[in-house]
Amino acid sequence: MANLKYEAVRGTNDVLPCESAKWQYVEKSLSDVAYRYGFREVRFPTFEKTELFQRSVGDTTDVVQKEMYTFCTKGGTSITLRPEGTASVARLCLQNGLFAGLMPLKLFYIISCFRYEKPQAGRYREFHQFGAELYGTQEPSSDCEVISFADTALKTLGITDYVLKINSIGCPECRKNFLDALRKYFDGYRDDLCQTCQERLEKNPMRILDCKSDICGKIAAGAPRITEYLCDGCSRHFEALKAALDNIGLRYETDTSIVRGLDYYTKTVFEFVENSTGLTLLAGGRYDGLINELDGNKNICGLGFASGIERLISAMENAHASFGEDRKCKIFIGYIGEKGAAKAAKTVKYLRDNGVSAETDISGRSLKAQMKYADKIGAENTLILGDDEVDKGSGAIRNMRTGECSEIDLDDILDTVR
Ligand code: ATP
Ligand code: MG
Repeated sequence: MANLKYEAVRGTNDVLPCESAKWQYVEKSLSDVAYRYGFREVRFPTFEKTELFQRSVGDTTDVVQKEMYTFCTKGGTSITLRPEGTASVARLCLQNGLFAGLMPLKLFYIISCFRYEKPQAGRYREFHQFGAELYGTQEPSSDCEVISFADTALKTLGITDYVLKINSIGCPECRKNFLDALRKYFDGYRDDLCQTCQERLEKNPMRILDCKSDICGKIAAGAPRITEYLCDGCSRHFEALKAALDNIGLRYETDTSIVRGLDYYTKTVFEFVENSTGLTLLAGGRYDGLINELDGNKNICGLGFASGIERLISAMENAHASFGEDRKCKIFIGYIGEKGAAKAAKTVKYLRDNGVSAETDISGRSLKAQMKYADKIGAENTLILGDDEVDKGSGAIRNMRTGECSEIDLDDILDTVR
């Protein structure tokens, strides 16, 4: 590769013209599913005050401790590029009074996120998320609705090679005993744990269950299970969710190792994991304490999910899924001579103004070169205009796929190509 003076920053990606149609297709499909489920889009700033993420994502998480892009403004405010969307949406709802409106509140977003992670397959420093938030109900049927939305979203994209894993991590009440049990258990392996997990042992031992190191993973396999520590309320919630999923025929596995990487989760957590790669395509859960954490006067239950769009596109490629129809040029109008050029320019303008993708030569090429170009861009039809055609007001339109030619009245061109 050439030695370039300017290269993109490590862990970031360009989307080239040959790939952008995939992104457009995925974004459009996901938005369509969202509206089917009654979710409406929100958009919000790329950066927020650092405090918002510290407070909501949680001080003891990897995201806040190691992965945030944080900088100080000239005015001395600490700002962070969003590592995820839930905190910003919570802020947006509070700031704009959305919790005073119709409930449940169902929102979705498509955003770029920034995390300082080690770049590798499916893991970047700038990546994109499709996410959803549902606020204002604590009913297990709302957990079911969000999971069902996620499942439909994946299936709509043609992704089926995944397993849905669910777990409950309880409420702060039942978690107290669980954390004590975890501390006691991991204390026995204190010296074997990785450096980070030794710190987690004091601050938040549940994080150890989410550690990606092999040795911690092996130790965690024998740790106490949250399901044995759930209080009656949390236990009933989890059973009701499973019944609701059974009722609509959604298959799942219960996996007590799922705890999620962000602190704000309570009760239900879930992940959709791609079988062939083991990558998490989509993950989420309930966060009944989040809003109260940001505004002590409000108690509003919520839950949601987020999915990495880069991982979705890879999964679609793995599944040989369709990215919709190629959007090709409908007609290329070639020309000979000045009269032909003027008519061609006028005609493509007219077609474009009427919703048809049309092109003509703008490089001063010979007719032969024009036709070569038309072929390369995959134009569906071609038409050549010279003095004769302009004078007669008609010409021969050629279907490039079948090779078929037919004489058309230039005044009828719009109806013909449409
Ligand atoms: P992981 O355990 O893989 O680090 P996470 O718990 O950090 O994931 P979330 O914060 O829940 O992930 O983000 C939701 C989804 O966003 C993930 O399931 C994944 O699809 C995607 N995602 C997270 N981090 C990245 C990244 N660095 N690059 C690409 N996609 C990502
Ligand atoms: Mg992570």
